[in-house]
Amino acid sequence: TAAEVPGQMSLTLNNVSFSYPQQTQPALANIHLQVNAGEHIAILGRTGCGKSTLLQLLTRAWDPQQGELLLNQQPIAALDEITLRRSMSVVPQRVHLFSATLRDNLLLAAPGATDDELTTVLTRTGLDKLLDDSGLNSWLGEGGRQLSGGELRRLAIARALLHDAPLMLLDEPTEGLDATTESQILDLLADVMRDKTVLMVTHRLRGLARFEKIIVMDNGHIIEQGNHAEL
Ligand code: ATP
Ligand code: MG
Repeated sequence: TAAEVPGQMSLTLNNVSFSYPQQTQPALANIHLQVNAGEHIAILGRTGCGKSTLLQLLTRAWDPQQGELLLNQQPIAALDEITLRRSMSVVPQRVHLFSATLRDNLLLAAPGATDDELTTVLTRTGLDKLLDDSGLNSWLGEGGRQLSGGELRRLAIARALLHDAPLMLLDEPTEGLDATTESQILDLLADVMRDKTVLMVTHRLRGLARFEKIIVMDNGHIIEQGNHAEL
């Protein structure tokens, strides 16, 4: 069985470099980053600079050719799969919708959740209108209801809330949301993030004052680090 996942997560990247297969230009080059337990980090930078790649290395979707990534001082490469998954809640840039019920689309993030818990999370993320006729039995995806871009983002946020891991990796969680919905979601995240370590990729400058540290990437490098006042 997997080791128990601690409630607090720190994160260390030591000189991490990564190139995608068949690519000559590295997507990440010599990344050094220390994230203390409970810190909230925003990651900014132009499209294609490597923000999503950085999060994907943390989920072990790819292995770096150089350097090491540590979760609570332990190499991520050595963690068993269950511990790794339990350690982090991820809102990916591309959200996958399964052709399945609304319930099953949520339960994959938290297999033990009750219908009451699922309904509460749908309400908190403003997705309760998906409950219309068939409730949690509503069929999504092929042969059922397709979700808008903003609904998909909120479904991913709902999954992350249910998963409730100590490290949150959020890749543009409010992309495609109107200003009102965005501020509702940012308020919700601010509440959830309080006792968690967070890396959030964003293009928006709104809400950045809530983050202890902002890092700016360019072309696979971290080019600036500081707090909201400094940058
Ligand atoms: P955006 O803001 O548009 O989401 P990003 O900062 O998240 O951009 P990444 O997705 O990390 O950027 O991509 C970094 C670089 O790696 C880009 O040049 C991209 O083209 C390249 N890249 C991303 N995924 C792959 C892949 N699977 N194979 C090869 N190259 C890739
Ligand atoms: Mg990206």
